[in-house]
Amino acid sequence: MVNNEMYALGSKRSVIRELFEYGKIRARELGADKVFDFSIGNPSVPAPTCVNETITRLVCDMDSTLLHGYTSAQGDEGVRRVIAENLNKRYATSFAASNIYMTCGAAAGLAISIRALCCEGDEFIILAPYFPEYNVFIKAAGGTPVTVGFDKSFQIDFDALSGAITQHTKAVIVNSPNNPSGVVYSKETIEKLTTLLKACEEKYAHPIYVIADEPYRELVYDDVQVPFIPSYYADTLVCYSFSKTLSLPGERIGYIAVNPQASDSENVYFAVMGAGRALGYICAPALFQRVVAECIEAHPNTSAYKENRDLLFNGLKNIGLECVHPNGAFYLFVKALEPSAEAFSNKAKEFGLLLVPGEDFAAGGWVRVAYCVSKDTILRSMPYFKQLYDSYAK
Ligand code: PLP
Repeated sequence: MVNNEMYALGSKRSVIRELFEYGKIRARELGADKVFDFSIGNPSVPAPTCVNETITRLVCDMDSTLLHGYTSAQGDEGVRRVIAENLNKRYATSFAASNIYMTCGAAAGLAISIRALCCEGDEFIILAPYFPEYNVFIKAAGGTPVTVGFDKSFQIDFDALSGAITQHTKAVIVNSPNNPSGVVYSKETIEKLTTLLKACEEKYAHPIYVIADEPYRELVYDDVQVPFIPSYYADTLVCYSFSKTLSLPGERIGYIAVNPQASDSENVYFAVMGAGRALGYICAPALFQRVVAECIEAHPNTSAYKENRDLLFNGLKNIGLECVHPNGAFYLFVKALEPSAEAFSNKAKEFGLLLVPGEDFAAGGWVRVAYCVSKDTILRSMPYFKQLYDSYAK
C-alpha cells in the first residue's frame, strides 16, 4: 500500500514534463531540426562568468570539509547577511540575516512557506494564470487552493479577488514577472492589491500574507520595474530563486525572505525553519549558497531573451496570432485558434511545435511558448507557425 495522492502525483507527469519528454522522442524519430521545443523554462543563456570563476576558486582555495559540509539549517550566516544587505541596498528595506532562510530553489521556498503558514481550514488564493505546482504545495500542506482569474490585460481581476477573500484566507500567492504570461504586475496593481489586503486584514482581524514568488525578478525588458512587495505590504514572504536569473536551475538554490515588518515576523521565521525541518530540508546546497553570495551583484544577460521575445512576438503577430506582450520572464502567451488549448497544442505537435496548453495554468484557450531557446530555433520555427495558422483557415 502506498499513499494514493502521492501515487497519483508521481505516476502522472506535469503537462510541461510530458511535452518535454515527447520532444526528446520526436527529435530521435524525426531529427532534432524538425522539433521546436518551446515547452520548458530551462534558461538558454549561460550563467554569468563569475559563477564558474567562483566555483573554481572556492573548490581550489577553501577547506573541502568546510565547503561541502553542512551549514546551519537555515543557511550560512555570512551568506544570509550578504543577501539581506543586497536587498536593503536595492529596496531601502531592513532585512537581517535572521530574516533569510536559504532553500533549494523557489519550489522548496514555496512548499516551506505554505507549510509554515497553513493551519486547518486555511485557504490560499492563487492568481491565474499560475504555476501549476502551487496546487500541489497547498494541498500537500492540507490547505485549500482558491483560484482567482485575470483581467483583459492579464493583471489581477480585483472584483473576483475581493469576492474570493474570506475569513479563511491565509495568503495570496503573487508571481510577477509571471509564468506563464510574461506579464509584470504594474505599481498600480500592487498598490490596489495591498490596499485591498490591508482592508481585509482589518476586517478579519488576522494577517493575510502575500507569498511573492519571484524567480524572474531581474528578467525584465525595456526598463520595466518590478515593484518589491515588502515595500508596500508588511505581511510578505518573498520566495526568490537563482534558477532563472543566474541560469542555475539544476543547482537548486534560492531563499525565503520574511519581511521584518510583518506583524509576527519572528514566529513566521521559526515556522519556516520548522516547515523546512518537517519537509526534510537540512540546509540548501552549501557550495551554491557561497556561489550566489559571491555573485550577488551579477546580472543576467537579458539581451538574448529580449531579442527572442521581439522576434517571436512580432513574428507571430504578423502571422495573425494573438499574443500577450511579455515584459518579463521568458514566456509568451498565445491565443489558441480553437476553444481547447489542449486540442490546439496537439495540432501544433503535427508541425513539430511543442506549446504548453494553458488549462493547467487556469488559462484555457491560451498556450505558453517558452522562448528560452536559441534564436535559430525561433527563426526556423516561423514557417511552421504559419502552417499551423493556415491549417485553421481551411
Ligand atoms: N515559481 C515559478 C513561477 C516558476 O516558473 C518556477 C520554475 O519554473 C518555480 C517557481 C520553481 O523554481 P525553482 O527552479 O527555483 O524551484
